[in-house]
This record gives sequence, C-alpha cells and structure tokens, in this order.
Amino acid sequence: MIADAAPHGHAKAGRWPHLRLRWGLVVVVALGAPALVTLLALTSVRTVVPGLLYVVAIILATAVGGRVGGLIAVVASAFPFFYFFASRYDRNELNAEGATALIVFVVAALFGSEVLGRERAARERAELAVRQSASALDAAARLQYVADALSTAHTPQEVLDAVLTEGVRAAEARGGLIATVSDDGEWLEVIASRGYDMKYIEPFLRFPVNGNFPLSEAVRTGEGVFIGSEAERDARYPELIGRSQPGHGLVCVPLVGERGTIGGLVFSFPTDQEFSPERRALKIALGRQAALALERARFSAAERTLRERLSFLGEATALLTSSLELDRTLERLTELAVPLLADWCTISMLVEETGEIEQVVVAHQDPERKRWAEEMREGSRTIRIDDEFDLTARVVRTAEPVFLREIPQELLDEAVRRDPNAAQALKEISLRSAITVPLVSGERTFGALTLVSETRELQDSEFELAQELAARAAIAVENARLYREAERRAEAALALAHVGDGVVLLDRDGRVRFWNSAAAAITGIPEGDAVGRHPAEVVPKWEELTRPAELADAAAPERARPVTVPIETASGDRWVAVTGVAFDEGVVYALRDVSDEEALERARSDFVATASHELRTPLAAVYGAARTLRRTDIEIPEEQRDRFLEIIVSETERLTAIVSQILLAGQLEEGRVDVTPSATDLAPLAESVLESARLRAPDEIELRLERSRDRAVALADEDKLRQVLVNLLDNAIKYSPDGGDVTVELNGGQGRVRLAVRDRGLGIPPGEQERIFEKFYRLDPALTRGVGGSGLGLFISRELVSRMGGSLTVRSQPGEGAAFVVDLPAA
Ligand code: ADP
Repeated sequence: MIADAAPHGHAKAGRWPHLRLRWGLVVVVALGAPALVTLLALTSVRTVVPGLLYVVAIILATAVGGRVGGLIAVVASAFPFFYFFASRYDRNELNAEGATALIVFVVAALFGSEVLGRERAARERAELAVRQSASALDAAARLQYVADALSTAHTPQEVLDAVLTEGVRAAEARGGLIATVSDDGEWLEVIASRGYDMKYIEPFLRFPVNGNFPLSEAVRTGEGVFIGSEAERDARYPELIGRSQPGHGLVCVPLVGERGTIGGLVFSFPTDQEFSPERRALKIALGRQAALALERARFSAAERTLRERLSFLGEATALLTSSLELDRTLERLTELAVPLLADWCTISMLVEETGEIEQVVVAHQDPERKRWAEEMREGSRTIRIDDEFDLTARVVRTAEPVFLREIPQELLDEAVRRDPNAAQALKEISLRSAITVPLVSGERTFGALTLVSETRELQDSEFELAQELAARAAIAVENARLYREAERRAEAALALAHVGDGVVLLDRDGRVRFWNSAAAAITGIPEGDAVGRHPAEVVPKWEELTRPAELADAAAPERARPVTVPIETASGDRWVAVTGVAFDEGVVYALRDVSDEEALERARSDFVATASHELRTPLAAVYGAARTLRRTDIEIPEEQRDRFLEIIVSETERLTAIVSQILLAGQLEEGRVDVTPSATDLAPLAESVLESARLRAPDEIELRLERSRDRAVALADEDKLRQVLVNLLDNAIKYSPDGGDVTVELNGGQGRVRLAVRDRGLGIPPGEQERIFEKFYRLDPALTRGVGGSGLGLFISRELVSRMGGSLTVRSQPGEGAAFVVDLPAA
C-alpha cells in the first residue's frame, strides 16, 4: 500500500558504461602498448631497447587489465618480438637461439604479468574489505544514531519522531510510518507517519492484520517484506493497485518487542532498490530498536498515567474529605474530572421519596458550555428510576457500571425520538464515548457519575478510574449525609435540651437515653444520674407517674393526651402533666410542671367556695333581717327593728367590700387602676383608720399607734394606701382570734417611710410567707381556725404599694404573730 512518488531512476543501467570504458581501456593498453613498441623497433637501429620495452608494455597492460590484459599484451608482443629478435639472422626460419629467446620472453612476460595480476587482485580484495567494513561501520553508526535519538524519546510520539526522522535517514528512505496492533490483535492502526501525502494514508489509517498488504504480511510473519519497485509491489499485492501512493522501493519490518510483535514499520524509497542482506539486516535492526523504544515509551507512558491517576485520585480524595458541604464538593469533583478524564462530567442523585433521578452537577471546561448544559437540564424531561431506556436510571437500578466505548448511533437516534430536547442538545455537541458508574453506599445506590467524551474514545483505564472516583464520591456523599443527619440530631437535641418541658427518651430496653435539664429540674434528678439507667431506679414513683399516661403512636404524636399526676421531689410535691409517645426505638415522655397552674386552679375553686360562703353569710343575715322586718303577724319592738336595719346596712357593706375587692383585683391585673402618688402624711391617715377599726374590733384586741419623732410623709396615693392599711388591720384583727395588741408603727428617715402593722395572732409558717401574697391564696383553714376571707386582700395590697413605688413584706413566727411592713418613698 505504501509506495513512493519519486520519478523512476536508472541505477542499474548506469553501471554498464563504466564497465565498458574499463574494458576498452584494457584492450587499448594491451594492444596499443606492444604496437607502440613495434613501431619503435621498426625505426630503431638497436633492437635491444624495444625488446625490453615489450616487457614494460606487458606489465602495463597487466596493471590496467589484470591477467586478461597481460595475456592480450603477451600475444600482441610475441610476434614482433619473434620477428625482431628470434629470426634476426634468418627471417624465415626459427633458429634455436631465436626460439629460446622467444620462450624465455613469453615465460618471463607471463610470470611477470602473473605476479603483477596476483598483487593487483590482492589489492582489490583489500580495497573491497576496507569498503565493506566502512559500510558496516556506517550502518552501525546510523543505528547508533537512531539508538541515541530513541533513548531520549519518552512518549510514543517522540519515539515515532525519532524513528521516522533518524530512521528514515539511516535507511536512506524518504518516508515512513508506524502502525501498532490493536488490543484485540485484529487491526493495524497508524499512529504516526512522515513524508506521505495524507490523502493516500487516510483510507489506510486502520487495516486488518489479515489483509493482503505488505505491512500486514510483515506483522503476521514476523519477517521483513522488501519490495524493489512499484511493479513488484503491484504484482505481489494486487489489492494496492490504484489505491496507494505511486512509489518505488518499499520496506516493511515487524516491530518485535519484548512481548512479541507490537506493530510494523514502513520505509519508502525515492528510487527502485536492491536490498542486499546487509541493508535488510539494517532495516530489521531498526525495526527492533524502534519496537523496544516504543515499548519503553509505552511503559513509561503507562507509568506516567498511573502516577497521574494516583495523584488525581489523591487530589480527589483530599477534596472530597476536605468539606462536608455536599453540593460544593461534588461540583469541585466534577471540575477535577474535566478535561482530564472526559469533556463532560455529571453527577445525578436519586430522590428516594419520588423515585426521580435528578442531575445535581454538570461540568465542562468551558463555562459557557456548562451554563448551556444547566439550562438544557431545566427543560429536560424528568427521569424516573424505572425508566427502561435511560442509562443513568439503569445504572442506579442495577448498581452495574456501563461503558460505551463507542456510543451506538441507534441509542442517540432513540434518545432524539423520545425527547425533543435531546435532539437540540445533539445538534450542539457530539457524543462519542460514555461511562456511567453507580454511587453506592452499602446496599444502597443513590446516584451515578457519568463521563462523556465528545471526540475521543474513552479507555479501559478511564473506566477503572471513574469507578474509583465514584467509590470515593460515594463515601463523601455518605459522610456529608451522616454529618447533616448528625447535625440535625444535634440541633434537635439542643432544642430539646433547652425546651421548658422535661423530655425523657427511653430506648427499647427502657433505659434513659436523653434527659434534658427541664426533666432534671422537675424530678430533681440530674442528667448524669439518670442516663443509662431505668428511670424507676432514680425517680421513686416513676411507674405511678407514667402508668396513667396513655402512649400515643409515633404516627400521630399530637393525639397524646396529658395526664396530670403528683410527684414527690426534693423541693416538695409537684404536679406534673405527662404525655408519652411510643416509636420504633423506644418511648419519649414529655413532663410539664403544672404545679402553679394546678395551685391557681385549686385557688380558684377554693375562691368560688370561699366567696360563695363569704357572700352567703352576709346575704343570709340581710335576708333574715329583711324577712323579719316584713312580718306583720308579730309586733317588732322599735329597738329590735333598728338592730335589724343595722345588720342589713353592715352586711351589705361587707358584701360590697368583697365584691369591690374582686373587681379591684381584676382591674389590677388588667392594669386599669390609676395610682397617683402625692405627699401624704401617714400619721393622721393611720389615726383615722385605727379609729374606724376600733369600732369593729372585738374587745380583746387593743389597737395602738406607735410613732417615732420623725416626720412620716410619704409619696403615696392616700385613698389606695388607706385601703391597704384597712386590709392589713382587718387581717391583724381576723387572725388574732385570741386577742392581743395590734400596733401600727410609723418610722421615717433616709428617704423612706415605714408603716408596719404588728399583731400577736396566729402567725404564718415560713414556707407560706411569700405565697400569701398570691391571688386567692389562703392558708390552710386548719392554720387559721376557719377564719374566712377571699385571699385577695394581700394580693391587692402588695400590688397597690408597688405601684406607689414601695414594697410590702411580712415577718412572722407561727404562733407569735405577724408584722406586715409597708416601705414607701418619702415625699
Ligand atoms: P383573706 O381574705 O383570706 O384574709 P388575704 O390575702 O388578706 O386574704 O390573706 C391571705 C392569707 O394570709 C390569709 O388567708 C391568711 O391565712 C394569711 N394572713 C394574712 N394576714 C395574716 C395575719 N396577720 N396573721 C396570720 N395570717 C395572715
């Protein structure tokens, strides 16, 4: 197939004139020299000089023409010699003297020419030997030259250049090419050429090893194919007639490396050639050297690829482990893969809830193309995991990687048929080769990584690399997912840790896994004591606490109904509302301390009871008095009538007071009470309140005012302060059932004015001294000997005082009385 375009030459014909010239010269010298001597003898008187000159002529002819020249000269000299010397005295008869002289002459001439001839032959042999060794040296030097050039070649391309540049020169060729055997051993693929017209090369870039082509034959047989001329080539390889570049001498040698024949080398010559065994050997040696160099270069390329691959994987691993931000990491990973591995790299993920496969990242070297691809993606049809046609769906479904070395045209046609978008995309880009590998974590395939090459065929090594890359990417995705999950849990735990309700998580074995600070506060058991143990071990009545709580199902946790139960804690009895939700991994309980609400509720119902009782008593008295007064059947004395009217008035006042207390408490809570402080002298105020109290107080109680000398003028709302003092004095009287002194003390000084109401009554236990100021709160009737009240007086009093910028506090020893102290800013 490979031939040469140079014009025909005439190297063989060129040697003939040279030969003819030489033999012409021999004949001229062998005949001419004796003839000249004869001419000299005819003109000379003395014949001895020409006689000797004949010998010189014979030696000369031998020197020029060898033995043959010498013999011709001997023959040409013999007759004149005989004529002039042997028959000198008798020209017609051979005398003995003459005959002897002739014989001596002929023998001497033959001997001389033989000696000369031998010497000449020896010289020619020596010259030939020198010439041969010079050409051997030249061949060796050329081979050495090629070897030197090859030794610096590291890539297959450099090897080709060295072989084709230096090798072509060494072989005296004008063009050359190298083809390698394909992986399957079926094809020869041209990997470099020099000095050819590409239009002839192109149809033969790939041709079968089994074909009837000279290089195929050389590769098949492992022997060189040497073709002297185009005619010989056409005769031996008729398939090449008209299909290849016209040419002359052609050599095809196999490239035999360490591991057998790896390809073939072609040299083309500008003229017809004869290939001597030496030249053949030289070409074979060149092929051998090229093969070894090519193998070495391939090896070093493979080694370099391996190194690049390792460093790529190293880089990818570092990248993937450096960040837990999944989307960014995947994007950078795909950017790493292009253009090193392929033109396009995409990562798709399976959305498990919907069964859809979403392309999450696409990368291309050119940002424009990348943007285009992202826009295309927006408009593309949704791929579902059960899509029979889509490659990514198949890979995610089967977890098997797919390698399409050459994407079949039918596949592209089908894609176009299914999706008009694909048709548009394929107008923009060509797809040659593709690899899709699954992203697998444990048993789960959650996505796929795809590499696409537009023009180049992807290689097995890239398929392997893609799989390794996918394995690493899968780990990174999994890590990021776990991290996100952990973060979410940590956040949830953080929220639960700080939530106001107690949260207790029990595992399937009923051991505490989580115990937040509210749970610790409610139960009084610190987290450290509870976690890892059964709650019943640490909370005394846990079973009683949780048994009534009906466990709701995890599917509908909102159905959980709280159950309120009392528990004993280190800080006293508490009321706790408990809800429980059971789920796969255990039970979660929520505990809410409802002691306050519970107490309020209790106080409210107490109030209703008390208030109705309190209201009913005066009402009953009013009702009784009124009914009696209305009676006509009996005569009511005037004195008694007044008494009944008195009862009606005073009980009605009491009713009004209770009702207005309730109203005032409500107004205070709503912030609707106006307090307008002004300078108020407390002494006359206290006097007047004491005055009216004395009217109500039983006889066993003595009411007194004690005051220091200081001025006691406070910044206060007089009416409201009066109300406070009335309340405090009423209480002091009420809760002193056994009588005793009730004193109102007044003190001034240091910007403050103090008013205290002291009694010697029942007193208040220390644990209750704050709570008596709460709305509706009343001490246990057992402690107050059944004294009635609304539980609002102290609440109202403290609220009013604090609105004046003052404070109301209590000091008391149970059984020894109580002192309620009002501190007010001085005016
Ligand atoms: P009440 O109308 O029940 O008296 P208060 O708010 O005035 O309501 O008082 C709240 C509770 O404080 C009372 O029920 C009583 O038990 C207690 N208390 C108030 N004053 C005294 C006092 N001087 N001595 C003993 N206990 C008192």
